[in-house]
Amino acid sequence: MTTDAPTGWIRQDILATSAYPVEKVPGGTLRLDAMESPFDLPEAFHRRLGEEMAGISLNRYPDGSASELKEILGKSLLGLSPDHLFLGNGSDEILQTLFLATTGPLLLAEPTFSMYRILAEMTGRTVVTATLSEDLDLDVEALLAAARKHHPSLIVLSSPNNPTGRDVSEETVDRICREFSGGVLVDEAYFPFSGWTALSLQRAHPRLMVLRTLSKMGLAALRLGILAADPKIVAELDKVRLPYNLNLLTQRAAILVCREFLPDLESQVRSIIHLREDLLRSLSAIPGVCPLPSSANFLLIRIGGKDPSVVARALADRGILIRDVSRHHPLLAGCLRVTIGTATENERFAATLALILKGTP
Ligand SMILES: *Cc1c(COP(=O)(O)O)cnc(C)c1O
Repeated sequence: MTTDAPTGWIRQDILATSAYPVEKVPGGTLRLDAMESPFDLPEAFHRRLGEEMAGISLNRYPDGSASELKEILGKSLLGLSPDHLFLGNGSDEILQTLFLATTGPLLLAEPTFSMYRILAEMTGRTVVTATLSEDLDLDVEALLAAARKHHPSLIVLSSPNNPTGRDVSEETVDRICREFSGGVLVDEAYFPFSGWTALSLQRAHPRLMVLRTLSKMGLAALRLGILAADPKIVAELDKVRLPYNLNLLTQRAAILVCREFLPDLESQVRSIIHLREDLLRSLSAIPGVCPLPSSANFLLIRIGGKDPSVVARALADRGILIRDVSRHHPLLAGCLRVTIGTATENERFAATLALILKGTP
């Protein structure tokens, strides 16, 4: 039996778009496409997690304000009191909540994280854009000019930016907050690998919000995003949030991580930073490959002489998945994005890439 598309009652703009692509991949595929950590937490964590999970009551609703989790996250990760925190089922959910709560257009500096646009359109926001500079840094003059022209309610910046791996500077964020009167969001999903944060500017600029996630530092399956913002902003967002958006299993697991396993996560992050620099060096040695320096857990690489989508397909044929971003934006022409894996995985990727580029076109 076939059915027609549900036209006439589903929103026309939703019928016209396609879902965010999350590929189903064959088992055994080396996934270097989604910025996951290649490292799982130690066995001791899994044992403790099992004990925690065994003790919870699934018949009761979880703590809707996640107060215990906020307390420990604030203390251990951000140095903030719980009233400054807004939590979500991944930072994607926080972006959705924030966009639902804002009025007027949203200003993005493209190329950037593609979910911003998807979520903006889903929540009925219009998107206006400024373009990064030729060398993929934030062009603050262009951004502020776009802000003066379009009067957005919110500027969304990713630092380090996905997919360029570049940080925004403190002076830049400070200047944007001084010259623009709406909300400013700095998405620091890759903060652990960069170390630079806009958080210290929040005191001077209460409209500045900082977004974090546990996903990229080894806990993607937990789905926990954290927004650090002025308590007055948090109070408004709480009106838009679904009452029990953070399930109890996530809350318990995250509390356990903060209490006992943060040093493990931190040492994994340090390893990934080393592996990133190793991969940058080995890719630089391959003719026709130009990796850009990165403050994140991925590298943007420019391929000379070959179509990146052909290269990505050839890698996929050999069981290695990376992201072809070459068609996402004119500035990304010729570019692929690869997540940092283990030493063995990175060597396999670099060797396979070198072979593919050497082969006949
Ligand atoms: C991956 C990513 C996110 C989404 O993180 P979740 O917490 O897993 O939803 C948000 N922002 C940027 C820039 C990302 O790359």
